[in-house]
Amino acid sequence: MDIGREQAILTVAGVEALLAALRERQYRVVGPTVRDQAIVYDDIETVDDLPRGWTDEQDGGHYRLSRRDDDALFGYVVGPHSWKRFLHPPRQRLWRSKRDGDDVQVTAEEARPERFAFIGVRACELNAISIQDRVFLGGPFVDPHYRARREDAFFVAVNCGQAGGTCFCASMNTGPKAEAGYDLALTELIGEGEGRFLVEVGSEAGREVLESLPHQTAAAADTNAADEIVARTTASMGREMPDVDLHELLLGNLEHPRWDDVAERCLTCGNCTMVCPTCFCTATEDTSDLTGAETSRERRWDSCFTMDFSYIHGGSVRQSGRSRYRQWMTHKLATWFDQFGSSGCVGCGRCITWCPVGIDITEEVRAIRGGQSEGRT
Ligand code: SF4
Ligand code: SF4
Repeated sequence: MDIGREQAILTVAGVEALLAALRERQYRVVGPTVRDQAIVYDDIETVDDLPRGWTDEQDGGHYRLSRRDDDALFGYVVGPHSWKRFLHPPRQRLWRSKRDGDDVQVTAEEARPERFAFIGVRACELNAISIQDRVFLGGPFVDPHYRARREDAFFVAVNCGQAGGTCFCASMNTGPKAEAGYDLALTELIGEGEGRFLVEVGSEAGREVLESLPHQTAAAADTNAADEIVARTTASMGREMPDVDLHELLLGNLEHPRWDDVAERCLTCGNCTMVCPTCFCTATEDTSDLTGAETSRERRWDSCFTMDFSYIHGGSVRQSGRSRYRQWMTHKLATWFDQFGSSGCVGCGRCITWCPVGIDITEEVRAIRGGQSEGRT
């Protein structure tokens, strides 16, 4: 069988067996679940932990959960969490030191391997992980903590059965169908009776797991139904990134008046960077006990929207909200290409949904394109 063409049908009981099979293989199984009126990623044990029968409404600065009129397990899109909170956690100790008289011992934090199985990973998120792979593993300096968590991860992707109001993956060529980077990919076939899932194999590990599960052969009608679902999702994207050379557009308009306009609305809260699945910047923080005998250094997520982020001797380089928003957006959509060879945006829409004032990255691009100023400044 060719990986990528091998398909089968799983029932809900089959998905339950999949979760059990992954646990038997010593994976820590993490998937979507409902908490605090949002869909967040957390440890799960059974399909009952999934947001069965829930959906989400999203728009600029707006997120609400509501009930569906069916029992779909994956009938929503992405929430405030992304998988980076597991692969690149918000806090990571780097080293500890201990003083004993005049002697100081420094102990580097060992990278602790974790075998994650991520359930319900969307196509845009697989693309985001491959972007973070380039950041943490692709250069001369490999992050041992990221590598220890990433190396053995097992990905169960889900092809989106609906698009969210702020999604624009289709225009970024990152979804809504998972094309690579998964072990198994599910498409939920919603219809009469019990839920059924078309499952596609993406790796040897995925094939081995699938073969251990109760499954049926997929018929041509199942494949066609899955294709139609993805086509419908593509056609109903809530947003679209303008089809222009973003690198040229943004770097050619560094003094565009729109940056002043967006700065008037932006609160520089940093929400957009926290929810973004590709943002990776960190700061380091040292702490000590009251006697100063024991200290430790942690790195924690940081944001280019804070003043401290660009602080160098004498002050912050980016003092204004205008310069910080411009830095974020031009990095995401333009200079990321120079640095990592791709866009830093996968069109997941989180930064639009979770921006308290509803700033929309696609709208900002459209506004700049609408009134391009001449030349690069
Ligand atoms: S910039 Fe916004 S839409 Fe793009 S990947 Fe980050 S959160 Fe998603
Ligand atoms: S664009 Fe929105 S989410 Fe991002 S810093 Fe500004 S106000 Fe906060």
